[in-house]
Amino acid sequence: MAVREVFDALLDLVLPQRCAGCGAGGSRWCRRCVAVLASAARVPLGRTSPDPQPPGFPVAAAAARYEGAVRGALLAHKERGRLGLVRPLAAALAAAVRTLDPPPGVLLVPVPSDPGTVRARGHDHARRLARSTARRLRRCGVAARTADVLVPARVVADQSGLDARARAANLAGALRCRRRLDGCVVVVVDDVVTSGATLAEAARALAAAGGVVHGAATVAATSRRPPVVASRLLRPAAPGPSCAGAGTAARRGGDPPVGPRGGGLPSDTSAR
Ligand SMILES: [Zn+2]
Repeated sequence: MAVREVFDALLDLVLPQRCAGCGAGGSRWCRRCVAVLASAARVPLGRTSPDPQPPGFPVAAAAARYEGAVRGALLAHKERGRLGLVRPLAAALAAAVRTLDPPPGVLLVPVPSDPGTVRARGHDHARRLARSTARRLRRCGVAARTADVLVPARVVADQSGLDARARAANLAGALRCRRRLDGCVVVVVDDVVTSGATLAEAARALAAAGGVVHGAATVAATSRRPPVVASRLLRPAAPGPSCAGAGTAARRGGDPPVGPRGGGLPSDTSAR
């Protein structure tokens, strides 16, 4: 168990417990919020597209809307080091990836976070989420692994306060791929899609390195641009004893069990 995970567990002993999803007392992750994430893993939203869609935005899918328990879990995992939430979040992200019908051997490429922010948080939420998602996919029979190949190419301005056009301009050329990916099929993964500028830039950088960008997947999509739902009926995540649901241990109280990066790129959201 990592030091952070031990610390996280010790907090349970000394702090009053509040649900990361809804704030209810008595549990760090309540039954109701467990059910919300489990539902996203069983029946992901599917295809999503920002409006307006930035140039180069790839085919993309999300598991849920960025609200309520899902938003709470993402923020708690990222900002407050609730590492145990990575499993239900990864289950939801894996479901979103599966709606894209990725080919065997697909590489999941996380969007890099600002290294200074990663140091301040003490963990890299995107990398952790991508790795847990790849494990989840493999357990569901999808040969997937992660490739931490994207790095910031330059310093960019804070995205908050910028409109969609300004965000796209701010991020143009902001990422680079640190090795060639000729012929490799890749899916960009991230926690949230907002304007889509980050995913579009990631897709551009990967394609420039020879990667075949199959699509992008996120746990959530912001609701101010309602997702264009296409796969709820087309391709629900296949149910199965090892693939449906999220975090059974969470139902026993506390977080679900815990499964087993540089410049800086601001998020699509203020939450990154
Ligand atoms: Zn809750």
